[in-house]
Amino acid sequence: MERQNLFAPWRMQYIRSIDKPAASGSGCFLCDAAGCPDDVQERRRRVILWTTPLSVVVMNLYPYTNGHLLIAPRAHKAELEDLTSEEMLDLERQTAAGVKLLKRTVSAQGFNIGINIGRCAGAGLPGHIHQHIVPRWSGDVNFMDVLGEVRIVPEAISQLYDELLEEIKKDGSL
Ligand SMILES: [Zn+2]
Repeated sequence: MERQNLFAPWRMQYIRSIDKPAASGSGCFLCDAAGCPDDVQERRRRVILWTTPLSVVVMNLYPYTNGHLLIAPRAHKAELEDLTSEEMLDLERQTAAGVKLLKRTVSAQGFNIGINIGRCAGAGLPGHIHQHIVPRWSGDVNFMDVLGEVRIVPEAISQLYDELLEEIKKDGSL
């Protein structure tokens, strides 16, 4: 994939749509992911990579770069200070696992990792805290230059989903 195609997805469309009620489910896609039945097709539809007793790891369907992952506690909590120590530790452990996965699969050379708290800070889903992992490559565009002309095609996301799942299956430590 050419580097310029990795950036600037349909993010404004997403920002405009976030106040609309979800057609089905709880209205929170992370809670829906956390409660998703163990069904391959259903998990694929929700781009769930793996779950632990405390956390859920999904691909971002509106990514800054392909391989943009979201790590969230299973519990619907808005504030970092509301997480238990166990939830915080698991969030970071799964973040580390995500970094490892992206190094292997998309050969990421760097990462931006962080949490947007509150809508004014850019949180698309302010009610359910989640940590972003955005893979980076040397020579790519500035992290803030994301609202450009090109976008990641949905096919690229589902193709990468399959590649990531394959790698997760190979690596039992994830
Ligand atoms: Zn939630």
